[in-house]
Amino acid sequence: MKSEDLHIDELIDFSEGWLSLKGRRLMIQDIHAFSQMKKDLMEFLGEDRMRRLLTRFGYFWGQADAAAMKRIFNWDDKQEWLKAGPKLLTIQGVSRITVPAFEWNEETGEFYMETIAYNSMEAEEYQKNFGSTDHPVCWMLAAYLGGYASFCFGGEIFFIEEKCQATGDRVCKFTGKNKKDWGDVIESHLPYLEAENIHDQIMQLTSELKKKQKQIEAQRKKLASIYPKQEKEFLFVRSRSFHQVMDLAHKVAHFDSTILITGESGVGKEVLARYIHSLSHRASGPFLAINCGALPDTLLESELFGHTRGAFTGAVRERIGLFEETRKGAIFLDEIGDISPAMQIKLLRVLQEREILRLGENKPRKIDVRIMAATNKNLQKEISEENFREDLYYRLAVVEIFIPPLRERKDDILPMARYFIKKLAKNLKIANLRLDASTLDILQEYTWPGNIRQLENALERAAVVCRNGVILPENLPANISRYSDPTQGIYSLESSLEQVERQHIKNILAHTGGNRTKAAQVLGISAATLWRKMKEMGESHQNEK
Ligand SMILES: [Zn+2]
Repeated sequence: MKSEDLHIDELIDFSEGWLSLKGRRLMIQDIHAFSQMKKDLMEFLGEDRMRRLLTRFGYFWGQADAAAMKRIFNWDDKQEWLKAGPKLLTIQGVSRITVPAFEWNEETGEFYMETIAYNSMEAEEYQKNFGSTDHPVCWMLAAYLGGYASFCFGGEIFFIEEKCQATGDRVCKFTGKNKKDWGDVIESHLPYLEAENIHDQIMQLTSELKKKQKQIEAQRKKLASIYPKQEKEFLFVRSRSFHQVMDLAHKVAHFDSTILITGESGVGKEVLARYIHSLSHRASGPFLAINCGALPDTLLESELFGHTRGAFTGAVRERIGLFEETRKGAIFLDEIGDISPAMQIKLLRVLQEREILRLGENKPRKIDVRIMAATNKNLQKEISEENFREDLYYRLAVVEIFIPPLRERKDDILPMARYFIKKLAKNLKIANLRLDASTLDILQEYTWPGNIRQLENALERAAVVCRNGVILPENLPANISRYSDPTQGIYSLESSLEQVERQHIKNILAHTGGNRTKAAQVLGISAATLWRKMKEMGESHQNEK
């Protein structure tokens, strides 16, 4: 491990519900509050005592960080471990620090290190509160460096600040040496620098932390074994309406009842079906999904039921269908609302008799499969319009689970978005991929007509185009990022619903590079519907002219 490889987001985690540095709790300190504390210290205690307090604080902090770095990483050498100190100060926002000179003699123990601090927080705060000064004031920083180095190399290494921004220098410069090598220079600093020996105390705390870290890891492993590895997005739900969905899913998972999952396109009907399967006693069996709406009748029939050799032209060899292939598993029939009346009768028979006929065969075969179906259509309406058989509906909807659209469960958007970010970071190999805080509101306010699928697609696009792994509002597809920006006007009150829709479709098409299949997917409508809408748009364009 090299000090250059330290990244703050890999160091800290939130698994305990708060910010911690691999087991050691961290506190974020507001800079203004810190500044106020310094003011108070100056007022109540005077500069001398304030310096002493901040020096002790910095020294302890440096020792604790050095111990943490030792505990967490295997460093290439002592020098890298040492350099991690200045790097930590940089990523913690204290100051950007470089190390222009470093010498260390392992035999004699001789130590020499120069560090330069740019924009030292301490110097800036001092100047702001108390004005310019004639002496260096980055006491905490100097003590931190000394505490850190002393912990790494043993002995007493002291850093003296020789130049300071607060005195009008461009940067702050610190030099570190062994106490004995400083000679008389150190005398005036000693009253502040000599803290009681806290090395043993730090060592004890460190060993306690090691134990705790092991416990945390064991708990994490246990958690991972409780929850199925796949379909984890359902574990991140917060909204009450989706909790109800999950409750029902958990209840019915253990029975073989047929399930009908309804809801808009892109809400995750298949994901829920897979999840239910993963909880069921059939979990070790296969789960196969088929989109019934995408296939013509004859093909769908041979896919589902299989066929004998020569059953129809092109049936050169015998083939078993999905109902048999999913023996001891589950079959998921998507877009069930789109099947023909003839197929509806055949399916009804399957559900009633629990047996199938291969095409070209008269011998019924028993099946052992759990059937789950899904549709984004309103089947009650289809029944009243005589497009769907009522008896089939009741056979399918032994248990009906409705998944509400994402816009009706806004609480789920962020947890889900974060889940996708993790997944994308892994799949796209983007280290440190994250959502910028300014993006969160936009994600939550948007209406997501294409639901979870659209959310995932939008985040994937943003992940690909963003810089340094930080997803900003402008990285989202324009229709989404613009949604929250009233100056863009496309969603203003004046624009008619039709205009909004037209613009929305145009934006989506622009983002899919004109790819209609993808655009339809994002929009959550069929390719045919998109085609019709585009045609209407073209016509209305002509009318405008
Ligand atoms: Zn300074």
